[in-house]
Amino acid sequence: MTKEGILLVLSGPSGAGKGTICQELLRRYPELNYSISATTRAARVGEKHGVNYWFVSREEFENMIKNDELLEWAEVYGNFYGTPCRHVKDLLQNGKDVVLEIDAQGATQIKKRFPQGVFIYIAPPSLDELANRIHKRGTDSLDVIKKRLSCVNNELTYVHNYNYIVVNDEVQEATNKVLSIITAEKCQVVRNDNIVEEILTNFNK
Ligand code: 5GP
Repeated sequence: MTKEGILLVLSGPSGAGKGTICQELLRRYPELNYSISATTRAARVGEKHGVNYWFVSREEFENMIKNDELLEWAEVYGNFYGTPCRHVKDLLQNGKDVVLEIDAQGATQIKKRFPQGVFIYIAPPSLDELANRIHKRGTDSLDVIKKRLSCVNNELTYVHNYNYIVVNDEVQEATNKVLSIITAEKCQVVRNDNIVEEILTNFNK
């Protein structure tokens, strides 16, 4: 039987650098599958439907909830975001690893359904640096930036739901840490009962 893939969940406050770390992870570990979320947020300049997000209307999103098509969903900064179910489940069942880049409310829902998931909290080195990064990114209006910064304290209270915390001081270093976590998770005895069985059989010959 195929071993189930690893479900990796990355969260952290806006500006912590989850997106950049995710891109770097996918570049350095191309077998990893990025789950494209659905959102009612308007696309930012350069964002593409079906690449960054599935950009949907409020009505379409509500239908996805009604039809049980989402693994989790949450309202974040006034917009709805959710993880489409089918693709993620198919990938995991076929032994493929999947990464979700979602907020802490969504991660809490995922933890209930997939306690075997690997939950990583990406933290900024400081609040000043976080504000700096959001301003520099230049993708959001001042109003939106204020809203995002005011949610940081609330976001931080969820940190205990996670298995790992990675401080994103420098992207390559933070990505190295996430890759090390994946490697360690893949070596867990519970994920390798086929190898364990083989070794025990050989020793008992
Ligand atoms: P942004 O608008 O900056 O792309 O994302 C805003 C927040 O929504 C980020 O914290 C991001 O991780 C989160 N987010 C993105 N997709 C999902 C999703 O499918 N579910 C949940 N719960 N949060 C998401």
